[in-house]
Amino acid sequence: MDKNELLFMLPILIGGMLVKTNLILDHKIKIKSRKNTKDEHKKIKKQFITKDKNYQKYNFPIIKYAILNKKENQKLLDISQKLEKKSKIYQFYQTISQEIKIEHLTNFLTNAQTVTISNEKLTLIKQIIEIEKGLIKFAEYDSNKNEITIYHNFVKSAINHELLHLASFNSCTKQVGFSYYDNKKNKILIGKGITEGYTELLNRRYFNSKSLSYSKLRKIAELIELFYEDKKDMETDFFHANFYNLLAHLTQIISYDEAINMLINIDYILYHPHDNKYFKNLKENIYSLYSQNHSKSKNKVKII
Ligand SMILES: [Zn+2]
Repeated sequence: MDKNELLFMLPILIGGMLVKTNLILDHKIKIKSRKNTKDEHKKIKKQFITKDKNYQKYNFPIIKYAILNKKENQKLLDISQKLEKKSKIYQFYQTISQEIKIEHLTNFLTNAQTVTISNEKLTLIKQIIEIEKGLIKFAEYDSNKNEITIYHNFVKSAINHELLHLASFNSCTKQVGFSYYDNKKNKILIGKGITEGYTELLNRRYFNSKSLSYSKLRKIAELIELFYEDKKDMETDFFHANFYNLLAHLTQIISYDEAINMLINIDYILYHPHDNKYFKNLKENIYSLYSQNHSKSKNKVKII
């Protein structure tokens, strides 16, 4: 088997959408890159964490979603029927609509109508670059173009992972899943980590994905679910791309600073999935923050 074939085989051996490879990374480069991410994240934390300590006591209101009337519901059902011609998308819709009410799938229905799905084989050079970076990309959803690109067709769960991104992308706010999009900077500042972990958690739950991708982030997403009394509410917030509701649920139990720090620390795992020590500490930290404050929060007086 030549090098080309070996590189092509690698994703089969490990599976998933974006899988850590941990092959060629030089130790010094790794340490430097981890430090750079931590420095970058410190800046983002500063930007979000205000000096006004009254902010700590503020309770973000949980936003309720509009309940649609019969006519509005029928309109959405009519749109969903139009997807029948797009078999992969329709299959996805059939599964997801058993779990989520159609009124929470408006982002999906909007984006699914115009999405393009194409296959592209990565050049050998691109494959090597990815492996050197420590990650392999199986598919991608480009929300700006509303376009899904599949790089490795044999990973069946990849398309559903990308369709979950599509279903949780709000084209007006540009937020995807639980990410926070900064309009001035034109980029996502917080929440990519929890978004990937939760996307993969739903991919497992709904589509029985056996993928190993984002395994650490998936485990963290399960811990974050604890902050919701009803897991279904977290699903709804995800499909509405409602970062603020996630923050609202977190700050019912922990402080605003703790919540922001937690989300940014989760982002670190996205860029450094091999940092086992960091992951272990973060997991323990999230669980202890939850368990220490959960019972207290039941008696907390709300300030709105
Ligand atoms: Zn993803």
